[in-house]
Amino acid sequence: MALLEVEDLCTVFHTEDGVVHAVDGVSFQVEAGKILGIVGESGCGKSVTAMSVMRLIPDPPGRIESGRVLWKGRDLLAVDADEMPQIRGREIAMIFQDPMTSLNPVFTIGKQLGEVLDRRFDLRGAAADERMVEVLGHVGIADAEQRLSQYPHELSGGMKQRIMIAMALMCRPDLLIADEPTTALDVTVQAQILHLMKQLQQEFGTAIVLITHDMGVVAETCDDVVVMYAGKVVESCGVFELFVAPRHPYTRGLLDSILRPGRSKATPVPTIEGVVPSLLQPPAGCRFADRCARAVAQCHQDEPLLATVSDKHLVACHLPLEVPPS
Ligand code: SF4
Repeated sequence: MALLEVEDLCTVFHTEDGVVHAVDGVSFQVEAGKILGIVGESGCGKSVTAMSVMRLIPDPPGRIESGRVLWKGRDLLAVDADEMPQIRGREIAMIFQDPMTSLNPVFTIGKQLGEVLDRRFDLRGAAADERMVEVLGHVGIADAEQRLSQYPHELSGGMKQRIMIAMALMCRPDLLIADEPTTALDVTVQAQILHLMKQLQQEFGTAIVLITHDMGVVAETCDDVVVMYAGKVVESCGVFELFVAPRHPYTRGLLDSILRPGRSKATPVPTIEGVVPSLLQPPAGCRFADRCARAVAQCHQDEPLLATVSDKHLVACHLPLEVPPS
């Protein structure tokens, strides 16, 4: 069953140079208890999509122009603004890339976690402390009681991100949106945080939207994947299908550029030549056409629409790649 259904979402930013179409007709679903990965290069609209779902787009300069964000069947874009804080945190929580900028440096961890319990649950004093220690234990923080009196600068990057996850989990949300949660962390801590998120999904049935540009993270963690390019969804399917039989040339390019063990030093890692087009005046036709080796004349004229190529596998391409022989 779909917990979250995003339908034809369009978000723009009004700038001095014109209107930037950051998210342009994006649709996807998140099923209860599943992890959906949203992947793509920087500037493809992944974070703006997440912020739009949470209704955190600063207006102005941003604006959600159209679309629907159905949360348990109810359109969040039509919900009264006063009601959104009840849904944010309690039902849908979000963690960001850099925990240092998300935590307030002048308050202790206990003060910041306690504020969540105070505001959301009217919980204070010993009962709040007990709950905080319990949740910190869940996210693998040792000496939890002692941590409550520490300031963010006294903790490592990995620990700060665990605190952020703990803060998000305080309210036992049904959906956790994690925007590049491991990018600022070293590889070992990254693995621990991903393991933790997977554990939380299994233990509490929390659905997760994981935004990342790292296909390795997707392979390890996700059930389903949405690939975004230049503000649009270009491919959407199950994680196994994505790695075994990607159908969009952009997805193929992302997969080819993964560093693999055993690659000879003499062989350069393949890259996708060129850059994501400006979303001020996106090109006509397929937005990937200038970087695509398969492009034909039609690609520069007609926009490819997202279409089903096999069960639950959608691709926006005039010439989808063949399925490799099994
Ligand atoms: Fe390449 Fe054309 Fe497909 Fe775009 S529509 S990805 S240019 S083949």
